[in-house]
Amino acid sequence: MANYDLVILGAGSGGYAAALRGSQLGLKVALIERDVLGGTCLHRGCIPTKALLHAAEIADGVRESAGFGVQATLQGIDMPQVNTYKDGVVSRLHKGLQGLVKHRGVDYITGDGKFVAPNSVKVGDQVFTGKNVVLATGSFPKSIPGLEIDGKFVITSEEAIKLDKVPGKVLILGGGVIGVEFASVWRSFGAEVTVIEGLPRLVPAEDEASSKALDRAFRRRGINSSVGVKFAGVEKTAKGIIAKLEDGKTFEADLMLVAVGRGSATRNQGFEEAGLQFDGELLQVNDSLQTNLPNVYAVGDIVRGPQLAHKGFQEGIFVAEHIAGLNPRIIDTLAIPRVTYSEPEIASVGLTENQAKEKFGAENLRTIQYDLAGNGKSQILKTAGFIKLIAKKDGGPFVGIHMVGARVGELLAEAQLMYSWEAAPEDVAPYLHAHPTMSESMGEAAMALSGKPLHVHD
Ligand SMILES: Cc1cc2nc3c(=O)[nH]c(=O)nc-3n(C[C@H](O)[C@H](O)[C@H](O)COP(=O)(O)OP(=O)(O)OC[C@H]3O[C@@H](n4cnc5c(N)ncnc54)[C@H](O)[C@@H]3O)c2cc1C
Repeated sequence: MANYDLVILGAGSGGYAAALRGSQLGLKVALIERDVLGGTCLHRGCIPTKALLHAAEIADGVRESAGFGVQATLQGIDMPQVNTYKDGVVSRLHKGLQGLVKHRGVDYITGDGKFVAPNSVKVGDQVFTGKNVVLATGSFPKSIPGLEIDGKFVITSEEAIKLDKVPGKVLILGGGVIGVEFASVWRSFGAEVTVIEGLPRLVPAEDEASSKALDRAFRRRGINSSVGVKFAGVEKTAKGIIAKLEDGKTFEADLMLVAVGRGSATRNQGFEEAGLQFDGELLQVNDSLQTNLPNVYAVGDIVRGPQLAHKGFQEGIFVAEHIAGLNPRIIDTLAIPRVTYSEPEIASVGLTENQAKEKFGAENLRTIQYDLAGNGKSQILKTAGFIKLIAKKDGGPFVGIHMVGARVGELLAEAQLMYSWEAAPEDVAPYLHAHPTMSESMGEAAMALSGKPLHVHD
């Protein structure tokens, strides 16, 4: 089959970004996908869940409207209509992406590909050979041993984004990003929600202060959680399920969402047979995302680092540029911004406070947790939360930024630049932030950390 500069297996965030950037750089690209262009993020992940979260925000707005002097009554949630809205968003983006791939001259091949060394992917009886191959096969929802997903009473995010009615009572196994986002949506839609997390706190990968703030906000919203006790099993009943924890506690619900992480789609792809080296279930890669086989790269959810779409984009772009002979900057995993889009949102970049203390020593750090209570726009929006800045002492740069509150995901762009550009609080403090915006709290926190607090008691 035709010889390509670049053959890409998997057209999710990582794969299609590599294809678009590769073709932009003049490479001849084949992009192979067995399902739909756009992968998990567009069809089953980021986009549909954020559409559900937006519908949830509107429901909350109506429910709480009286507190703003607006008379409105929430009559109910029309899930088929919510799904129409959500699917419309996905469909428009999908069409746009299809047009872009075509416009860039990428050869898009539909089919189940198998990696057959060297530098070839087989689809049916066709073999696509490239000077370079990028593996971008993504991930799938994981379960835990012995826990069967039936798709009806015990479901994963794949089914959760398609429910045609709001469950009355729902149990969520896993208090990570996906678990708390669905907890937030379903609560706003009126469900009784309980999150079960085996580790001692919700969103355990985030700064402890963020977990605490989320826990408080969830309790205020009537979202129940059980942390620190492991799940022991689930039984089906006539009406739904009963889940049991290791301490004997039981929870009844209409259904249970299993959100215990995502497995990397690295098996049955021909990877082992071709001699690729693994790191657990992930493919092993170096800083330039090269596997142990020459000219074979891997990106996205099948390599180390957070499983995030923008990490996949960045890695796809990196690989295309590397192949084209440019000298792209090695990706700093800690600089990858992270957002949990629940209500309230959690956003972060860099180290948590505990990680920073471990790395640099508490005596070498300065930290401020600026309460959004002092921020005008947050008061207007009636949101609570904080911005926490952690920087090195003596004029040193930021090493971690953590935020909780409504819409703080939108503040992360500035935080990420501050972190990535190795800015110090003293660099940021002199710049103005428009009043009244939530971004002012970033400026206020930087001012306070550099010894010139304005709206902060010193
Ligand atoms: C519910 C949910 C919400 C999420 N929300 C966010 C979010 O808000 N923000 C964020 O940044 N990330 C989010 N993510 C994570 C994000 O979706 C993933 O990190 C991202 O999609 C990974 O991109 P990828 O290219 O590695 O893999 P994928 O997007 O999974 O794409 C891999 C593609 O490869 C194809 N494929 C696999 N094997 C073969 C084969 N043998 N032949 C042909 N094709 C093959 C698959 O069909 C798939 O289309 C979310 C995920 C989920 C599940």
